[in-house]
Amino acid sequence: MLTILLGACVLTALGPAGGGSWGLPHARAEMTRHSLIFFDTFDTVITIIGYAEDQATFDRVAGEARSAFERYHKLYDAYNAYEGIRNIYTLNRDAAKNPVPVDEELWALLLFVKEWQPRLRGTVNIALGAVLSQWHGSRKAAEAGESAAVLPDMASLRAAAAHTNFDDVVLDEENRTVFFRDPLLKLDVGAVAKGFATERVGRQMLASDMPSFIINAGGNVRTGHPPAAGRHHWSIGLQDPEAALTAQAGQSLDVLYVEGLSVVTSGDYQRFYTVDGVRYHHIIDPATLLPAGQNRAVTVLCEDSGLADILSTAVFILPYEQGCALVESLDGVEALWVQAGEAEGEVRMTEGMRVYSNSAGAVNPER
Ligand code: AMP
Ligand code: MG
Repeated sequence: MLTILLGACVLTALGPAGGGSWGLPHARAEMTRHSLIFFDTFDTVITIIGYAEDQATFDRVAGEARSAFERYHKLYDAYNAYEGIRNIYTLNRDAAKNPVPVDEELWALLLFVKEWQPRLRGTVNIALGAVLSQWHGSRKAAEAGESAAVLPDMASLRAAAAHTNFDDVVLDEENRTVFFRDPLLKLDVGAVAKGFATERVGRQMLASDMPSFIINAGGNVRTGHPPAAGRHHWSIGLQDPEAALTAQAGQSLDVLYVEGLSVVTSGDYQRFYTVDGVRYHHIIDPATLLPAGQNRAVTVLCEDSGLADILSTAVFILPYEQGCALVESLDGVEALWVQAGEAEGEVRMTEGMRVYSNSAGAVNPER
């Protein structure tokens, strides 16, 4: 099995537990650090760290978060059916026959994508499923060792690409149903689902008895209030894409100091397979139907984790100048690039990212 590396990992700010009060609902109580790790949703490791008054509070809040992740995982899965759940898989199976009613959590994701996708310069397209499933199938077959690793056939990728028009996905707001006008169209929400789910879980936790938390959902990081251990911010380590592929997987490229924000990375090292000695990763440029080659990794920082997720995939596909123009056009969004190709390994960041970035001089002072 392929090792799935975290795009960003929590490095520090977790100091000695129980570091005193910090002016929030339970300011007088002693806050202690707790954590929960689980592996069974979104094909990744999810870590929740929180400062809570006691173990029981943490267990309750983190347990609710885990249940929510389990539900979102099933709803947004394009490759498996689950008893009693209408999800992306069942839409792909049924929505060209009849309009299919969907639950609020899935509907909200589709509306979010409908709002943002047109602004992403032809990069992220959740209707690209017929193309993406071929890459997914080839990668999974290679991972399972079924046969020699092979690339999907370009002629069949091109044939599938004729059935990827998001306008053929009819979202009927009145009846909350989904209908595909094109019978060969398939959805794949992998570019946005994990971040969208993380944002909903994060908001749930912000409203809970444990608003001081960090969620790391396989490189999708959402932070709540600062750690109650005397620091102002959570520290998020960004993986060096090259080091991530080798034995130095823990080596970080930079550290970002944030609170109340999300940090999401798309990288060529997160999911890939190798054919004839060449690595093929999981982010597909709709223009070429091949893995995008402009960047090694792109990290997006903004409040909303769903937005950070869809943007990190979009900006990863774009050349630096275009990605930068997109990011700069949006309020409250910053980005960091590790470029590929001629500028291989070069790190760039938006001006506004510098205030968060250790390599640009930011620090995480004790309060
Ligand atoms: P991320 O890791 O958030 O950058 O998303 C990568 C995932 O998004 C892949 O595993 C695919 O499921 C999906 N994906 C890849 N390329 C695209 C694309 N051009 N448009 C929409 N989804 C994509
Ligand atoms: Mg993404």
